[in-house]
Amino acid sequence: MSNEKITPQSQDFSEWYNQVILRAELADYAPVRGCMVVRPYGWAIWENIQKTLDRRFKDTGHVNAAFPMLIPKSFMEKEKEHVEGFSPELAVVTIGGGQELEEPLVVRPTSETIIGHMYAKWIQSYRDLPVLINQWANVVRWEMRTRLFLRTLEFYWQEGHTAHETAEEAEEETLRMLDVYADFAINEAAVPVVKGRKSESERFAGAVRTYSIEGMMKDTRALQSGTSHNLGQNFAKAFNIQYLDRNNVLQHCWTTSWGLSTRFIGAIIMTHGDDQGLILPPRLAPIQIVIVPIYRSDIEREAVLTAAREVEARLSSFRCKVDDRAEMTPGFKFNEWELRGVPLRIEIGPKDVEKHAVLTARRDIPGKEGKLSIGMDQIEEEVANFLTAIQNNLLDKATRFRDENTFKPETYEELKQVVNKGWALSPWCGRAECEVKVKEDTKATTRCIPFDQSSPAGKCVVCGEPAEERVIFARAY
Ligand SMILES: [Zn+2]
Repeated sequence: MSNEKITPQSQDFSEWYNQVILRAELADYAPVRGCMVVRPYGWAIWENIQKTLDRRFKDTGHVNAAFPMLIPKSFMEKEKEHVEGFSPELAVVTIGGGQELEEPLVVRPTSETIIGHMYAKWIQSYRDLPVLINQWANVVRWEMRTRLFLRTLEFYWQEGHTAHETAEEAEEETLRMLDVYADFAINEAAVPVVKGRKSESERFAGAVRTYSIEGMMKDTRALQSGTSHNLGQNFAKAFNIQYLDRNNVLQHCWTTSWGLSTRFIGAIIMTHGDDQGLILPPRLAPIQIVIVPIYRSDIEREAVLTAAREVEARLSSFRCKVDDRAEMTPGFKFNEWELRGVPLRIEIGPKDVEKHAVLTARRDIPGKEGKLSIGMDQIEEEVANFLTAIQNNLLDKATRFRDENTFKPETYEELKQVVNKGWALSPWCGRAECEVKVKEDTKATTRCIPFDQSSPAGKCVVCGEPAEERVIFARAY
């Protein structure tokens, strides 16, 4: 890793994003165009995301399972909207074991079809419901324009698939999981997402209703960061998922699906990062604290390293690392760990050892203001407080940024202006023509109709017809 400066965000945000990912060693380009290799440091973030989400899934009654990656192509064709939505992105296997297959197989772009097929077999009676299954998996969608983490041919995610007795239960589940995602995003990743409903044109292929969480990135673009779909009876009818109800009458189930992917790592990078590189929220950071020993002579080295090891032992309840590489200077190490977004740095030099203290430096507050000397005796408590303060500060900053860059244009002229510098929370009549017009004129799309409708609607910002709700128009990833 070189100490060369990263392209500043203000100069070229997208170049900044790519450089941070490559130089922080989160991911790399694979030999197949559009595929990505997730490197250990990036995967460690994903593992922390997995742990915290998986606990939330289990707490809400879900269990994990694994379904196959190969799906008979005919399955994809059973639900009309689903096939239209996904056909252009399918990878199809036609040869297996050197022979042409009788029926082509698709590499799963998502698993509603194969899981629906299995649910039809497993569900007979209302006593079998609800079925609440999640799987951690990789999926393939043949995207034309790709970006590391944000849009790649293959990506990693979890997909929950549930089946219920009633429409109400399915809707409750869909909303419950959206809440789980929002709780994770806000409280673990410090990404202040907005919960809302997708417009008709933006909903999942085959869903009755799609909900999403949307985050504002530092360039003010929106990033859809997780989705939850109420599939109604569409897939149940396509796959004959039926059950005998309490009156012994055969009914179709009501199903849902919901997913959050490695795309969320992109959300973390672009919500918190700065010109020095990544800033990771302490709750998800693979390394929460890095200890850098500072010395000039061998005698100093001995004393300083001993103290560093002692600090490491004291902080064993945190994810802590001593950077004892002898061949790098402390300055080089500072830059490297800043680039890699470690929330808290602890410096220990001979004077600190004498004082029985250490110097701490917060990644979220650059320069002198973020530095503080703390006594060894209080180190566990102080570090815990720092990490909490950093986590809270990241969420506060990101929330403020989002609010400062969310505008409420009342005229179409205003809307066209503000979508170049932020989000437009505008009254919308709900008609697709108005959505299309905004997209053609400004490239902004409807992101979601926020649940929070505390600002009164009025007249559609595009056509002037009465509007019942406000929608977020924004340029999006
Ligand atoms: Zn309109």
